[in-house]
Amino acid sequence: MPVIFYQNKHQMIVNHSPWLYQLNRTRPIAVLDGDHHTDVAIIGGGIAGVSTAFYTLKNTDKKVTLIEADKIAHGATGHNGGFLASYFERSFSSLIQEFGIKMAADGQQAMESAWSLLDEIREEAQLQTPMWQFTGYAACATIEEVLVHLRNNALRIKAGLSTSLLMVSEEAKQLNDIPEMYKELYTVLPKADISALLETDDEDYIAILPERKGCMNSALFCEELVGYLITKYPDRFTLAEHTPVRRLVLKDNHAVLDISKTKKITAKEVVLCTNGFENINIVNTSGKSINNKFHQLVRGIVGYMAGYTEELNKPPVEISYLPKKFKHGSDIYEEDPYFYLTRRPYETETKETHNLICIGGPEALMDDTNNYNQEHPFPSEAKDEIDSFLRYTYKHGRKDKIEYKFLWHGLMGFTPNGVRLIGPEPLNPILYYNLGCNGVGLLPSIYGGQKISWHLAGQKVTPSIFDPKGDGPLVIKKHIRKRLNIKDTE
Ligand SMILES: Cc1cc2nc3c(=O)[nH]c(=O)nc-3n(C[C@H](O)[C@H](O)[C@H](O)COP(=O)(O)OP(=O)(O)OC[C@H]3O[C@@H](n4cnc5c(N)ncnc54)[C@H](O)[C@@H]3O)c2cc1C
Repeated sequence: MPVIFYQNKHQMIVNHSPWLYQLNRTRPIAVLDGDHHTDVAIIGGGIAGVSTAFYTLKNTDKKVTLIEADKIAHGATGHNGGFLASYFERSFSSLIQEFGIKMAADGQQAMESAWSLLDEIREEAQLQTPMWQFTGYAACATIEEVLVHLRNNALRIKAGLSTSLLMVSEEAKQLNDIPEMYKELYTVLPKADISALLETDDEDYIAILPERKGCMNSALFCEELVGYLITKYPDRFTLAEHTPVRRLVLKDNHAVLDISKTKKITAKEVVLCTNGFENINIVNTSGKSINNKFHQLVRGIVGYMAGYTEELNKPPVEISYLPKKFKHGSDIYEEDPYFYLTRRPYETETKETHNLICIGGPEALMDDTNNYNQEHPFPSEAKDEIDSFLRYTYKHGRKDKIEYKFLWHGLMGFTPNGVRLIGPEPLNPILYYNLGCNGVGLLPSIYGGQKISWHLAGQKVTPSIFDPKGDGPLVIKKHIRKRLNIKDTE
């Protein structure tokens, strides 16, 4: 598969994220002096690694070392859309097909439990990083999208999960096409109300799926949380930044992490929180090789985003605009990526608070995630696509051309079935995973952190949809194949 990158023909635009800009880091880089021994080595200092460290320190008495190749939160955690959501980027019905209704429902509930985990962390660590919670909206342009959501919501109810009422335009010609059995699952609103909620003049949208959403600067959250862990656990927590793990050697009852020719870390257990990047060589001296499998596990998509500030005169929100070119009979979650927009208060360098509007949507494939480079310039074609979205869809009440204050990109790792990997590696259970961003990764990373700590605490953990599957054949689900442009022959 070729690597498809937008070419940056016209100008060099640097990768400039609002989340890192706001970080205002004062803490010196934390490095290790020489060889180091620990109970639990967590590799990767994004939201997955930091949350795993938080829960491992809280729920066990083990020594924890958090190892980051760069600086805390400078990976996807510092380059995302910054909205909080607890859905999978695949339909609930497809989860049921793969795992059965009980496991699918438990998995969905687990994702939703991360809202309270986030509250728990913020309260316990007394974090000041702002977070906003609200109802966000997914816009539907076709009756097929509406029916997919209704079918999913009916299944959610059957599975004992809560669900929100879909809002359908009373002027929608297709209203009569909605089967009677769904009548309790939606409400009807004037078209003008639908357009107002979606903040668009685009007449195509006929319905809205409201969902619990939020906004947070995940980089700021991690930096603050790490500061708390350093202070709270001076004897049990070690942070090592600028410390790339080149090779991970797994033995029977411990692991050796090669940092450089002269520096090594030994650990009784290791948790990989690397988002899915492959730039680590894993050698299992206690059983079958897991390196190749791991390398196949995750492929990447680069997501491009733009942000601008405006007057602070509207409340925070998140709205996603699903693609209109919906193919009849397929599943919207298998369609092209959608555009999404968030608005939240943002303090600028002059200490004034504005609204920050962030837009995401354009994506590029990464065949080999080792080739991704954060220094890669932002492609002007992605900016043009975002311009076009703002011109035709989002009603922002501005006639002038929008100047972006931020343009940034980040790498998303996708697991073969679009479900995060959380749990022990069956071929050597001293290795654990909490990785695979799959598009929506902030709350799942936090849930994963708590779940890994249960394993490390020796608790009995019930099987789940997140369990790594061992050395079985690698089956890449249809929607991931499509999204990553993987041919059926691969
Ligand atoms: C453009 C974009 C938009 C997104 N928008 C959203 C959104 O709005 N909402 C949402 O929920 N999710 C979103 N996501 C996904 C979300 O950002 C990620 O799922 C989440 O930040 C991943 O956290 P992480 O800790 O797993 O990975 P990262 O934050 O990438 O952290 C992994 C860390 O591991 C380190 N590392 C890798 N290899 C090694 C090694 N060998 N040795 C040492 N360290 C290593 C890296 O340097 C990195 O810092 C988005 C992602 C992108 C790219």
